[in-house]
Amino acid sequence: MFSIADATLADHAFDLLVRLLKVPSINPPGDERIAAELVADELRDAGLEPQVLVSDERRANVVARLKGTGDKPPLVLTGHLDVVPVEPEKWTHPPFDGVVADGCLYGRGAVDMKNHVAMSLAVIARLAREGIRPKRDVIFAAVADEEQGCRAGSLWLCREHRDLVHGEYALGEGGGFSLHLGGTTFYPVQVAEKGVCWLRASLEGPPGHGSMPRADNAVLRLAEKIARLHPTALPTHRTPIVEAFLGAVVDALAPNVPGLRELAASVFAQPALVRTLVDRIPDPTVKLGLLAMFSNTASPTVFRAGQSVNVIPGSASCEIDGRLLPGQSEASFVAELRAVLGDDVTLEVDHTMPAVEASPWKSPLYATIESVMAERAPGCPVVPYMLPGFTDAKGFAQIGTTWVGFAPVKLPKGMRFADLFHAHDERIPVDGFRWGTETLAEIVARWIA
Ligand SMILES: [Zn+2]
Repeated sequence: MFSIADATLADHAFDLLVRLLKVPSINPPGDERIAAELVADELRDAGLEPQVLVSDERRANVVARLKGTGDKPPLVLTGHLDVVPVEPEKWTHPPFDGVVADGCLYGRGAVDMKNHVAMSLAVIARLAREGIRPKRDVIFAAVADEEQGCRAGSLWLCREHRDLVHGEYALGEGGGFSLHLGGTTFYPVQVAEKGVCWLRASLEGPPGHGSMPRADNAVLRLAEKIARLHPTALPTHRTPIVEAFLGAVVDALAPNVPGLRELAASVFAQPALVRTLVDRIPDPTVKLGLLAMFSNTASPTVFRAGQSVNVIPGSASCEIDGRLLPGQSEASFVAELRAVLGDDVTLEVDHTMPAVEASPWKSPLYATIESVMAERAPGCPVVPYMLPGFTDAKGFAQIGTTWVGFAPVKLPKGMRFADLFHAHDERIPVDGFRWGTETLAEIVARWIA
């Protein structure tokens, strides 16, 4: 066994994070070239031989491999280089200046997810510089385009360069942050994530003059149907991984909350109960998060109709962001949607990515994370988690690499990951990042030794 988890490593990772945050790799439109070059230079400097793989004119992915003895299958460390757009005027500190204030480093990408890119990069660079020859190859993959559906990034990379990025497990985003619930701090490990089904609902109707209103106006009729898609419009389902997550949380909290176990058991037996139960939860983030665990969801997002204010258009369409529980399919989701919207709406699927679920969710790597966390965050249970969103797990799942979402960061009580990512003033506590870097280093060291 060796250890690389020390202050020098954390210093290096922090320096890398600041430099990455200063690169505005905003997606859309998406341009990861500068960030990718920064990463590739760092890898070269450590003696590795990175490949910059360009999927599209401005879209760059970086892959490098530290050769091991080959006794065990490879581990992939991965993160995405792109970030979501910003409204700079709403930020306390500029989003691309790398400002440290009040113990936090501010910047778009601070928690989603240049933090994990920087710490993974520091870890593989350190392994290379120390000449460590682990039992497994360690692959590092910094990818493009996660924020717009992974098509120019991990989906492309896994499809076109499978041999370069295929491993037994990929350690990426989706968990690892402190989750404060009911006086206990949990550390979720993402072992599942919902699927995606983006589709378009449309209707046609007779066009006409705006001065003569008509009830069969396509805009009116589609709007009436779309209005049925309230957050609990689709049926509830039982999903084993959801029960594993909530069961683990309940186990930790039950000693202090009389009746909690019985309540959980009744919701698991009859998931529709969650919808009346959440009315007692004042926190909207927790409430919406819980609802999303029990059903497929459909959010109307882009409504299009008409060209001119005085013309009743002949058609209207609405894009719908659908998310699927593990165990559900595009067909089962479309059938649920059809039941709500009715038969006269045309539904066209634009993009589907199935849900991802590790099986079994408690993998040997998960167990390694648990054992490291028992030392680094005693008293804070590690729990299996299903992300309602999606990550690069989709691409890696397609090539048979099991995703383990654990990008460790310690957040103080009162600071929630859900309030930081994609938000104004995205930031990361400096101490929490340093702790995370050392934690990741320890997990990697144990896993590859
Ligand atoms: Zn992300």
